Amino acid sequence: MTHHVDTLAVRAGRLTSDFKEHSQALFLTSSFTYDTAADAAALFAGEKEGYTYARHGNPTTEAFEARLAALEGAEDCLSTATGMAAIQGLILTFLQAGDHIVASQSLFGSSMNMIQNQLSRLGIQTTFVPIGDETQWQAAITPKTKLFFVETPSNPLTDIADLGVLAQIAHAHDILLVVDNSFCSPVVQRPLALGADLVVYSATKSLDGQGRVMGGAIVGSKALVEACYLYIRTAGAILNPFNAWVLLTGLETLPLRMERASQNALALATWLEAHPAVERVFYPGLPSHPKHDLAMRQQISGGSIVSFTVKGQRAAAWQVVDNLQLFSRTPNLGDIKSTITHPASTTHSRISQAERDRAGVVEGLLRLSIGIEHIDDLIADLSMALA
Ligand SMILES: *Cc1c(COP(=O)(O)O)cnc(C)c1O
Repeated sequence: MTHHVDTLAVRAGRLTSDFKEHSQALFLTSSFTYDTAADAAALFAGEKEGYTYARHGNPTTEAFEARLAALEGAEDCLSTATGMAAIQGLILTFLQAGDHIVASQSLFGSSMNMIQNQLSRLGIQTTFVPIGDETQWQAAITPKTKLFFVETPSNPLTDIADLGVLAQIAHAHDILLVVDNSFCSPVVQRPLALGADLVVYSATKSLDGQGRVMGGAIVGSKALVEACYLYIRTAGAILNPFNAWVLLTGLETLPLRMERASQNALALATWLEAHPAVERVFYPGLPSHPKHDLAMRQQISGGSIVSFTVKGQRAAAWQVVDNLQLFSRTPNLGDIKSTITHPASTTHSRISQAERDRAGVVEGLLRLSIGIEHIDDLIADLSMALA
């Protein structure tokens, strides 16, 4: 029987012990015991299913993995310590010195840093291309290209990649298409169904949704996820059981949270677009967004991230940030609490002016992550701050 996402979020990946607990148990144990020496040998040889040591597997982390795989409609999932651990682990699983990546030039700051400054040190080179220009993705391919890496919608300007087209280009050259889906979560967008080979998550964002723990995940086919597992369980950056337990409860409310946050975001984006102090609004759910039709084919909603520019320079944008009373001033996103950040002086402050210009991160730009508060209170707060 197949269930709806709302049902899977609450019921999938449930694992019940002999105590028949109704809520999910937390197995806070780093190792497991064996009945006999022969039992231990069979477990270590992989001839018998079971647990040996928590870096190789733990029931609570596996419950989280099963639930996230169900929400994604995927064969398998591997959880990691953080989102960056998932991205780093995935790349080092499939690439080696001499290999090449083609990546969107609008990536999360640490992903950019990892690819540009850390992987290049190990001999893995990357060509960055505009997210929506498929001819440039195609043109950047070399005989050594192993991976396409993209985030859609992009941060902070919510530009959209056509995942079906990128998948076609990638697969014609035996290249893996990897999508960082942290912004949308599987409730809003399922990249595997659109042609991606693997999806990575910062579970720290909307999967937890309540700003409590860090985590990450890789989702995809059994064969590809198993390859990542063999590397990451040895490299060490696995998810700990306590965080997995917190994230399991996060997933339970994910569909409800994303639905409410998306509704709020659309209402707020519509309101901002009509405000005289606002120059431009970037939100895929708005008909004025240049890729609105594509976004609505790929996503169930516009998601919870809204960016906009105010007239004037940094001082004008900072004044809006400082005037707000309800919005949290933090670069974190995907939380039940609405947040605001000034990308040019925070998330994008360490890149050069030229790179900021290329990414469209102007001084008047502000990024909102919309939560589940009442829409009237969010509008009242922004209205006061923009006045
Ligand atoms: C936060 C984030 C990451 C990194 O995740 P961590 O859990 O902070 O390691 C990667 N990609 C995107 C899109 C993010 O928002």
